[in-house]
Amino acid sequence: MEGVDQEEKKARLTKMSYKDFLLNVVKAHSDVIPFYQTRTHGLYGIGIDAVPALDCWAIHFPGFQGMGLDRVPSKGLTFTALGEVTPQEEFYFHFPDGNASIARMLVRSLVPGSASGNTAEDIVTARMDYGRLDHGDSPVRIRLNSTAVLARHVGDPASAKQVEVVYGRDQKAHSVRGKAAVLACWNMVIPYLCPDLPVEQKEALHYGVKVPLVYTVVGLRSWTAFHKLGIRGVSCPGMYHSSMNLDQGANIGDYKPPESPDEPILVHMLRTPCQPGLSAREQQRAGHYDLLATSLDTFERNIRDQLVRVLGSGGFDPARDIEAITVNRWPHGYAYEYNPLWDPDWPEGKRPCDIARRPFRRITIANSDAAAAAYTDQAIDQAYRAVRELLSS
Ligand SMILES: Cc1cc2nc3c(=O)[nH]c(=O)nc-3n(C[C@H](O)[C@H](O)[C@H](O)COP(=O)(O)OP(=O)(O)OC[C@H]3O[C@@H](n4cnc5c(N)ncnc54)[C@H](O)[C@@H]3O)c2cc1C
Repeated sequence: MEGVDQEEKKARLTKMSYKDFLLNVVKAHSDVIPFYQTRTHGLYGIGIDAVPALDCWAIHFPGFQGMGLDRVPSKGLTFTALGEVTPQEEFYFHFPDGNASIARMLVRSLVPGSASGNTAEDIVTARMDYGRLDHGDSPVRIRLNSTAVLARHVGDPASAKQVEVVYGRDQKAHSVRGKAAVLACWNMVIPYLCPDLPVEQKEALHYGVKVPLVYTVVGLRSWTAFHKLGIRGVSCPGMYHSSMNLDQGANIGDYKPPESPDEPILVHMLRTPCQPGLSAREQQRAGHYDLLATSLDTFERNIRDQLVRVLGSGGFDPARDIEAITVNRWPHGYAYEYNPLWDPDWPEGKRPCDIARRPFRRITIANSDAAAAAYTDQAIDQAYRAVRELLSS
């Protein structure tokens, strides 16, 4: 792009996929494409055919050297990449059980006595006392296994003083009333939960399509095969799971990672059931069907086959070495992030998520969908906003 200024370069890169960038701008050999195709799966849930080149530049993919791009986000350009939306810190904290520890810490603060300790370190091995979660003597009560089916104002929304939430639990319908409600579930279910919402808002709530992901965790008797091969992870473009990595050696509080290759360990495998060639939202929908229709047997066969093909030369024997397999299917995983390859450039305040999260009298809307941004920091910001809207009304 010689002679093209910074703004224009970025504008072009935001409207072309990384795949097209490699083929048409870098003029890389087409054999390069399958090698990189799944490299974006973990962050985006879709391959390089559907991720803008500018995002791949932001996460340091190759091919942009010498283009002189600076890292100041340009006005009006969408950077969905983690590196741009979420400031990256030098310090990296990895909970062994993922974001579950964040939820557990929130619960521990809200419901005194629900878990021991008071630090980010001690939550890792703390046991939750489920009996405390829904207790009459606590100002905050958390009722598990309760699916809300209706949220409505009691009487005319304009003058109502109460909200009623109807939920299903133990095969029965129950209801609770309160001064207000925050719907912190997924945008696409809210129109069904809250049929009184304005039509425009319901349409906006339907727009995003959650990104499907599968995190498979395999418990191994030992990791001697990894040790012999001198690897800790493998990128497997073209295989059923696109990557596999040994569990990160988190050493937090009383939680100690395995140190010797003879010790048991967990292997994380990633699969994103997308369908290249379609738009991002259609790929997501195809992934939902895929996850609904795939049996555990199919997963297991593919996992065993893949592990032995990758690790066999290190002495791996699936019958001997695999102790357990957990397939975590997230048909509705990440929140949908707007994709400049297909989504329009909405004016400020007019994106579907801006319309979708409008407060509806005593009912407000949280969840990462409300920010159209996948990560937990956004979920927390949206929850904060939804509560403040209630306090200020
Ligand atoms: C596999 C995976 C890995 C991730 N890794 C990271 C990461 O490393 N870092 C990061 O920052 N983010 C990560 N995320 C994203 C992070 O998990 C989300 O940003 C965060 O969970 C969103 O929080 P939330 O409270 O908005 O919604 P959610 O966590 O989705 O919670 C919504 C809740 O609403 C419940 N619900 C839905 N409908 C109803 C109903 N009708 N009645 C009652 N309850 C209902 C759901 O069961 C769910 O518990 C990851 C997500 C996935 C799927």
